Amino acid sequence: MSHVHIIGGGLAGLSAAVELAAQAKVTIYEAGPACGGRARSFHDKTLDALIDNGNHLILSANGLTFRYLDILGARHTLSGPGIPIFPYYDLQDDLAWTLRLSKGKIPFWALPGGRRVPGMKLSELSSLGRFLKANDNTVVEDCLKPGQFSRRLLEPFAISVLNTDLHTGSALLLGNVIRKSLAQGGMACCPWFPEIGLSETLVDPALAYLRRYHGEIRTGVRVSAIEREKGRVTAIESTEGRIELGPEDHVIVAVPGPVAQSLLPEIIAPDAFESIANAHFKLSTPVKARGVVAQARFVGLVGGISEWIFLKGDVLSVTVSAANRYADRDSNEMLATIWSEIRRALDPVLPHPLPVAMPPARLLREKRATFAATPEQNRRRPTAKTDTANLALAGDWTNTGLPSTIEGAIQSGLAAVSALGFRSAIKHTES
Ligand SMILES: Cc1cc2nc3c(=O)[nH]c(=O)nc-3n(C[C@H](O)[C@H](O)[C@H](O)COP(=O)(O)OP(=O)(O)OC[C@H]3O[C@@H](n4cnc5c(N)ncnc54)[C@H](O)[C@@H]3O)c2cc1C
Repeated sequence: MSHVHIIGGGLAGLSAAVELAAQAKVTIYEAGPACGGRARSFHDKTLDALIDNGNHLILSANGLTFRYLDILGARHTLSGPGIPIFPYYDLQDDLAWTLRLSKGKIPFWALPGGRRVPGMKLSELSSLGRFLKANDNTVVEDCLKPGQFSRRLLEPFAISVLNTDLHTGSALLLGNVIRKSLAQGGMACCPWFPEIGLSETLVDPALAYLRRYHGEIRTGVRVSAIEREKGRVTAIESTEGRIELGPEDHVIVAVPGPVAQSLLPEIIAPDAFESIANAHFKLSTPVKARGVVAQARFVGLVGGISEWIFLKGDVLSVTVSAANRYADRDSNEMLATIWSEIRRALDPVLPHPLPVAMPPARLLREKRATFAATPEQNRRRPTAKTDTANLALAGDWTNTGLPSTIEGAIQSGLAAVSALGFRSAIKHTES
């Protein structure tokens, strides 16, 4: 039986391992103390609460993510309203509204009435067409028609999806996401997020599944070198010693791009990154909202620094994307600003106002949360297939056609499996 050695236990590595479990012996080498990489939850001692390293929103359009969860029997661990509704609050104009997308492809939601973005004109929908036609040099701001549809929906959507500013973000990558989501109708845009935490939804069920197939998961093992001879990997060097490979063995390198480059100097990978900041606030009692916010359990924000507030029992978590622009801002000052934005957006839908004094809080900044999704960086993404016969690449930074996302990471794992000649849900098609 073939033995596939997977270096990196993030979602790309886990996706590959799950796909291979019934076809080969699988071993994952993960440098950290636990698998999950950039999508993990942990118990935070300061807040004494389980928190995600960063809030992750998954759209129903993410078909490969849902397939992965179905294989693991873990779809039920996601939570969401089940319909395409997005409550928003505009901090600049003090205005709350709810975007209610039509379920089908025809955008009835954009017609005048209570379902669309306030102040938008129907003609602004043409921005979507521009994204669908974008080429590899187009940036997001080139496609945006000025107006409230852009300001209140497309701009924040672009920044969340690409984690890159509008002046440099790739319109092609955003267009690929729009093609799979908004262009397919509202039911492709239902928002989901883990009910308990990222690890409980995306990681722990995968590890349990792999153990059922006798897969080996070796955490705390950092791979430091990959030895090759005559176009094949022959050994892996790790903190636990040297691992010799047999003639039937394969390797999937599923580590972040810069680590992959240090192991395989010939590959080209993205070399510019964007950060994401997440603020977590621990309340003394669970926060119970009314109406549509209770249904969605999140609110999108426009016109401030906060982008999404997630209501998770007694924890309120806020996402700030493309956060390189806030790198010099003091963390306590940022937390105070975010707390005031939360109060403005949530107080109107709560039975009692939130405390004026900021509760215990943490600001987590993931400096290299994603590669900068610019046209230039997008051109630096390699395919899964390499010139080394028994070696493939995986990771959200490989050439998936998607920005750095859970769906992209899962797709990349499947592409690596396919590139090595194993059965996979996707054929090896990238060029
Ligand atoms: C704060 C934040 C918010 C995000 N929000 C969203 C969102 O809302 N929606 C969405 O779809 N995506 C989101 N993302 C992106 C998503 O988390 C990533 O695209 C995805 O998790 C990447 O998975 P990966 O396996 O490619 O990489 P990683 O998760 O980086 O996995 C790589 C693994 O390799 C391990 N490793 C590194 N070096 C070695 C070595 N030498 N030997 C062995 N192991 C090694 C690492 O420890 C890590 O576990 C967000 C990311 C962040 C950081």
